[in-house]
Amino acid sequence: MNKPFILVVEDDKPIRKLITTTLETQGYKYHTTETGEASILEAVSRRPDLMILDLGLPDMDGVDIIKKLREWSNMPIIVVSARSEDRDKIDALDAGADDYLTKPFSVEELLARLRVSLRRIRFNSDKILKDASSFTNGNLKIDYAAGCVWIGEKEVHLTPSEYKLLCLLAKHVGKVLTHNFILHEIWGSHAYDIPALRVFMATLRKKIEKTSLQSKFIQTHIGVGYRMLQVGEDT
Ligand code: CA
Repeated sequence: MNKPFILVVEDDKPIRKLITTTLETQGYKYHTTETGEASILEAVSRRPDLMILDLGLPDMDGVDIIKKLREWSNMPIIVVSARSEDRDKIDALDAGADDYLTKPFSVEELLARLRVSLRRIRFNSDKILKDASSFTNGNLKIDYAAGCVWIGEKEVHLTPSEYKLLCLLAKHVGKVLTHNFILHEIWGSHAYDIPALRVFMATLRKKIEKTSLQSKFIQTHIGVGYRMLQVGEDT
């Protein structure tokens, strides 16, 4: 990918300045808007590679902007919000955001989240060109045709639920998935609840992370959900 082009949607001037200065230091190209309406127009006309979106805008709620964009776009959206409540993060993620930052955040944190999301776009476009019958992330390999999971040379034996969980996380690698999204995708609506999901996740992690040199494939977002980290070039 050439220099990524990022749309920054933030009505708070000092924060906007912090974000754009950070982007400049890394050579990212960017455009800024301050309202929801303008952000949708610019997203349509400029086709950014990624959007950094403040949830509290003067004219629209950020969650509604995400919903509108997701009707036609799958560009990564990183939500930046002063709201620290889990509920807001969850709503934004469920609407289709990839990740979130809670204000105040550090420049390093912002850059790390950007790298994760940008890597996801690259990864997804690579994957289309590659064989879709398997998934590889570091030394983790899922062979979809055979239904087998490997860490390096060693096969990992998973229960059907653990396998489904791993496949779901792999499908959305780099993206934070909420508890409700996972429950809905894997078991339909009400078969299991969040405590049950925690148990499945704990046994899955034990199996894949103990065997692997990579100690953390799956990141826990307390009160929100989980993300599979992409074993990466630059982190
Ligand atoms: Ca704001």
